[in-house]
Amino acid sequence: MAMTYASPGAEDLRLAADQLAARLPSALAPFARIAFNYRWCWTAGGAGLFAAIDAHRWEACGRNPVRLLQEAPTGALEQAAGDRQLTRRVYSLEECIAVEASQPTQVDGFDSTHPVAFLCAEYGVHASLPVYAGGLGVLAGDLVKAASDMGLPFVAVGLLYGQGYFRQRIDISGWQNEYWVPSDPPRLPGAPVTLDGVEPMKIRVPIRGREVAVQIWRFAIGRVPLFLLDTDVSDNEPVDRWITSRLYVGDRDTRLAQYALLGIGGVRALRAMGIEPAVYHLNEGHPALAPLELAAEAVAAGAAFEDAFESARARTVFTTHTPVPAGNESYAPEEMTRVFAGLDERLGTDWDTLLSLARVHAANREEPPGMTALALRASRARNGVSLRHGGVARRIWRPVFGAGTDDEVPIGHVTNGVHLPTWMADPLRALLDAQLGEGWQARTTEPETWDRIADLPDAELWRARCELRGKLVDYVRERATLDRLSRGEAADYVEQAQRAFDPDRLTIGFARRLATYKRLYLMNRDLGRALKLLREPNPIQILLAGKAHPSDDGAKRVVQELFGARRAPRVGERIAYLHDYDMGMAAFLIAGCDVWVNLPRPPLEASGTSGMKAAMNGVLNLSVLDGWWAEGYDGSNGWAISGDEDPDHEAQDARDAGTLLDLLEKEVIPLFYDRDADGVPRGWMQRAKAAIRTAGLQFSARRMLRDYVDRAYRVEP
Ligand SMILES: *Cc1c(COP(=O)(O)O)cnc(C)c1O
Repeated sequence: MAMTYASPGAEDLRLAADQLAARLPSALAPFARIAFNYRWCWTAGGAGLFAAIDAHRWEACGRNPVRLLQEAPTGALEQAAGDRQLTRRVYSLEECIAVEASQPTQVDGFDSTHPVAFLCAEYGVHASLPVYAGGLGVLAGDLVKAASDMGLPFVAVGLLYGQGYFRQRIDISGWQNEYWVPSDPPRLPGAPVTLDGVEPMKIRVPIRGREVAVQIWRFAIGRVPLFLLDTDVSDNEPVDRWITSRLYVGDRDTRLAQYALLGIGGVRALRAMGIEPAVYHLNEGHPALAPLELAAEAVAAGAAFEDAFESARARTVFTTHTPVPAGNESYAPEEMTRVFAGLDERLGTDWDTLLSLARVHAANREEPPGMTALALRASRARNGVSLRHGGVARRIWRPVFGAGTDDEVPIGHVTNGVHLPTWMADPLRALLDAQLGEGWQARTTEPETWDRIADLPDAELWRARCELRGKLVDYVRERATLDRLSRGEAADYVEQAQRAFDPDRLTIGFARRLATYKRLYLMNRDLGRALKLLREPNPIQILLAGKAHPSDDGAKRVVQELFGARRAPRVGERIAYLHDYDMGMAAFLIAGCDVWVNLPRPPLEASGTSGMKAAMNGVLNLSVLDGWWAEGYDGSNGWAISGDEDPDHEAQDARDAGTLLDLLEKEVIPLFYDRDADGVPRGWMQRAKAAIRTAGLQFSARRMLRDYVDRAYRVEP
């Protein structure tokens, strides 16, 4: 049988599922099979099937279905096996997944022997697979799911971090502490790829002058295989086993080793599995060595470096996500030549040539090289992640291309999008199923699909919004109580969390990575005025969450300052800072808040995606006109703060903090509490419908993937 991208490791996953099934009552066998393909997590009711076995254990296992089936008590398993309704539902889910899996994956120009290969340092597929940190990873996960939905031949390659990304605890002084939790790969819903069903296959990757052994894990994301590389194998020395320990480790040497593994190892892994991609998509600069490894293959076959590089470039496309040069790390030449040792020889060239490819100004030997410049030079198509960010990227990277004007810089844009079945909450999805007609999810990119949303009865939409806010409030009460207890807070403050947060109160959310440019501090810049908004008769409540990078003390101080105000009147029951933001928490927040706030300093928000997720659920954005919101805001679907750049940051902060409070006082709060005789906020519902339409039509992962196919993958070299 010809090797297609779908084959390697597929049998290994089946064996792992069979082994798990053998330990379960036979009626539960389909659960074991479903557990090894994340397709369940974007099927309505999928998660509920696992929760039905043992709701408590499901949460305790971090919603990892394999662990649930391994750890659930025998009594719970036997009871589930005897539940005819449950077993019927799981059989029918398995059937649906099998029907979809059996359909050919084919999109013009790509077939199963020549898929798109996507390389990324992180993937946010589900909270139970801890190989993501934030936006970049969740976007990659959403893209992979969209590829599965659309039947695009697609393989994804990343790293399997033994300890994932850091977890966050905030202490009694308001300071963030980090800790790491082993992700225990053998209990994740994946399997090492073998050639013979027994021995995991291994590839070798030259890193720091050693041939590091690498094992490849396969995870199934619907119809897309996700291959994760792992150096934690006994053949390796401890420093090499550490390469895949943590995502975005602090130490530069290990970080470069991760880039070597992802780029060189990614190409080698696909080659070893017999997969021949039509195109390689580098998502952010981390995998930028991939095209060099492709070139090295050609050089080994006798090509000259220049020709080999050109032909690799013709198969590579690159997406940049960072809006500032400083966000694109650079390294000392010696750091690169040490970790990437031997690359010069394998490419039949010298380090001077290679390092100049990785410099913004190729001829400036004083400039430290970086992965982004290399990726830009080594790809045939390049893009930023929103219309505005495309322009910013052309401005920043102009010297790479020696272009006379920004307009001549060959960088376009594909605006990010989010995976609707993942992020649209069930009550909303059920409403739209009834309103938009059969199969609407496959037609989200057609404007007509959304026409009928205008006729959605306000009262029904309001009921769904209230249900989601209610679920969020339950979640927050429980989480905030535990957070406060674990910090050792005073009993009265803990109790405020328990009874606080009203399911009928206007709820404002701000949750994201806490880089300084996100300007969380604008929220408490005019503290006295902000606290007044918490008062009756029309009070608001505020939910905050987010992790600061472990080495970003500035961002940690912002959190600490916020904590300083936590014992002010009414704050204990109206404001909560939730520990340890992740995808599971994000799902509650983006669906249950009423207003989603984003305050980046323009133009530093390349895109932002949490606001799209919120809008899809009828949540109204109140944001700076930067990133996606500069494209999405139309006057009817939320509120805007100026996106103008201003070199005087202090003045800009004062102005924007003032606008934020003005909008809340004069527009947002009055509109939310303006109710008709039935208690429905009519004006708010108009805006909510506009928001759903905007996000569904323009900011879905389907639209994003279609753009990638049209603007990047399909472009002929
Ligand atoms: C969507 C998402 C993000 C990205 O949100 P931004 O708006 O880009 O900050 C980060 N983390 C998680 C867990 C998400 O789900």
